[in-house]
Amino acid sequence: MKRWLALLPALAILSSCGFRESTSRIDAGASLSGSPVRVTNGAGHSETNGKPGTVEKPGRSTGQTVGAEQASEWKTLELTEEMTHLGELVLVNRDRELWPEAVPGDIVDLGEREDLTSGYSLLDPSIELSEQVALRFGEMVEAASSDGVRHFRISSGYRSFDEQEELYEEKGDDYALPAGYSEHNLGLSLDIGSTQGPIDDSAEGSWLKKRAWDYGFVLRYPKDKSSVTGIQYEPWHFRYVGLPHSLIMKKKDFVLEEYLAYLKEKRTIVAEAKGTRYRITYVPVPATDGTAAEVPVNGDYTLSGDNAGGVIVTVSLKEAA
Ligand SMILES: [Zn+2]
Repeated sequence: MKRWLALLPALAILSSCGFRESTSRIDAGASLSGSPVRVTNGAGHSETNGKPGTVEKPGRSTGQTVGAEQASEWKTLELTEEMTHLGELVLVNRDRELWPEAVPGDIVDLGEREDLTSGYSLLDPSIELSEQVALRFGEMVEAASSDGVRHFRISSGYRSFDEQEELYEEKGDDYALPAGYSEHNLGLSLDIGSTQGPIDDSAEGSWLKKRAWDYGFVLRYPKDKSSVTGIQYEPWHFRYVGLPHSLIMKKKDFVLEEYLAYLKEKRTIVAEAKGTRYRITYVPVPATDGTAAEVPVNGDYTLSGDNAGGVIVTVSLKEAA
């Protein structure tokens, strides 16, 4: 087991956002029934109970031929150590400092972007966020609105290292993380509130607990995962990881630490989400040598580091049957 995973349970349970909103009354675990994601390992064996460690045969060690029949041509892509620190799946916590280069280049000032912020309010007009994440959040808010849930408010988004350092000095070690160790420094996380009261007691909070994963967001610090995340329950803090990862995490009841450890162990899994089949491969990237992965010449794929020595290659295979 990696050192950071072994150490986490021993850590004090901290707050990551720098403030407390309310005590919790609703369980973080959302119902998994009807989840539109199905996960198998790379060799195509279905998992029966959705828990890690129950697959009878491990996924293939390279995974590079799995699903190849679905794509006409594959090319070799060089993976470098730098890539292990970049992307939507990078782990940022008290033991994993983010690379400043991991902050996406599309951070925008939400207060100046009415086109991005219709349907919800901002606690402060100076709140910043990745534009892509804001677009996904907007889609989610629109979907909630069609369910009659319409009182979302973003209370915090991207924070620069300087802002985080200031917060850390002001709040102290029990209520904030040092600069570079907070997900708010990454630009892919946000604190979501309700204008109707504490998020945990609101219709907005209830809706998010059921549906956020469908839009690529995950509740980053669930109540029953404090021993894994090292952070107390935060019903307001959501992290964007994208599809299909969010749906797999929901189905398997994984937080990011657990999901990345699972991918590292399995090396290759195949998952279906929203009608598309994905092959997800974890590739360890040696710091000195780099390595390579096979990706389709004409097809969709994404790369993300885990910020812990690996790159996750997610390839869209042909439409699920
Ligand atoms: Zn937060």
